[in-house]
Amino acid sequence: MNYVVIGAGAAGVAAVKEILKNSHDNDNIRIITDENYPFYYRPRLIEYLSGEVDDKDLIINDKKWFTDNNINLNLSEEIINIDFDNKEVSSEKNTYEYDRLLLANGAHAFKPPITGNEKENIFTLRNLSDAKKIYKKAVKSKKAAVVGGGLLGIEAAVNLKKTDLKVTVVERSGWCLNRQLDKKGGELLIDRLRNEKGINFVLEASTKEFLGDQYVKEILLSGDKRLQVDLVLLSTGVRSNIKLFKDTKLAIKRAVDVDSYMRTNIEDVYAAGDIAEYNGNFYGIWLPSMKMGQVAGRNMSGQKYEFPGIVSSHTLKVAGINVVSAGNLDPNHEFTHEIEEGDKKYKRVVRNSEGKAVGLIIVGQFDDQDQILAEVKS
Ligand SMILES: Cc1cc2nc3c(=O)[nH]c(=O)nc-3n(C[C@H](O)[C@H](O)[C@H](O)COP(=O)(O)OP(=O)(O)OC[C@H]3O[C@@H](n4cnc5c(N)ncnc54)[C@H](O)[C@@H]3O)c2cc1C
Repeated sequence: MNYVVIGAGAAGVAAVKEILKNSHDNDNIRIITDENYPFYYRPRLIEYLSGEVDDKDLIINDKKWFTDNNINLNLSEEIINIDFDNKEVSSEKNTYEYDRLLLANGAHAFKPPITGNEKENIFTLRNLSDAKKIYKKAVKSKKAAVVGGGLLGIEAAVNLKKTDLKVTVVERSGWCLNRQLDKKGGELLIDRLRNEKGINFVLEASTKEFLGDQYVKEILLSGDKRLQVDLVLLSTGVRSNIKLFKDTKLAIKRAVDVDSYMRTNIEDVYAAGDIAEYNGNFYGIWLPSMKMGQVAGRNMSGQKYEFPGIVSSHTLKVAGINVVSAGNLDPNHEFTHEIEEGDKKYKRVVRNSEGKAVGLIIVGQFDDQDQILAEVKS
């Protein structure tokens, strides 16, 4: 069997590991990535911005691992065309035939169409090469702005701050992490990040324009406020890399549509991770990507295994501050909400009509966190 996987990230490599467990002597496994690095832990790219981690701290499986396991790893090779009828994928250099194909080509950082966004020193962060460029600029700069106060934006701000930059987060809504936290939780987190970590916030502000000649110098915000900057990190969400499938018969909604076996609508073509959506869910995070990859790998190599779905949950330390957001946060208030507040801490538990915890928000430390989280995920 000839297996081809596009993308050597969490989903692609997890799939390959499952295929290996079930492979036969004459199987051929090829994994192709446009990056110049073997499999690494993408979430740690954030820490790279502080200069506290190095390339070697990120790598999960090096080139030797691929060679030892008889896997053809093609680095720095972008797939630019897929011929689903003839079962071939092509780069500029080569064409590869497949019997089973996995699309695990992930997502990219969205760059909002703001005037001036092409100026130098305006960055997005998706891969190691982006992280290197940002760090190189950060250590020579004084003032940075992070546009977007979501998970990635906040973590990036905290790590950039460690390089002695003055860091300001520009957020359109009234509080940060607005997809994971409610107003109270988000406001508490901002207070703590301001007071304990020295991060500045400009809230309820939209970015109108990036000003400067070749290099960005200022951000023009709504209300004609101006923010001086040497570097800008845009952290305004991700989009699946679906451009590769334009004008093909692959079924796409927001991302590539897969069933519980990670099959697409085309025979012998599977998709997993940030390129895929299952049951209307686009996860965009590491664990589900890996799990989807495992499911795809098992099914591609002849087993039958269904993806059970995953309750979306985030447990993180934002600059050492414990933050949890899990399950159904019930924005329409159909369920019961239990609120507990204390010194520098806040908790909201959402319970359904049977009293079961179905959603949880925490900022700070609470002793019953693990117990409630387990209930939410059950
Ligand atoms: C900075 C950052 C921080 C994050 N932090 C967290 C976190 O704290 N927790 C969490 O759960 N998740 C986090 N995530 C999200 C998580 O990393 C992703 O959900 C996960 O990596 C998705 O895995 P994937 O294999 O689907 O895609 P990817 O990891 O994106 O891998 C896809 C690979 O395919 C390559 N590729 C794309 N197109 C082509 C092509 N045409 N030809 C060849 N190769 C191609 C890409 O370059 C990439 O190497 C973070 C992501 C980023 C960028």
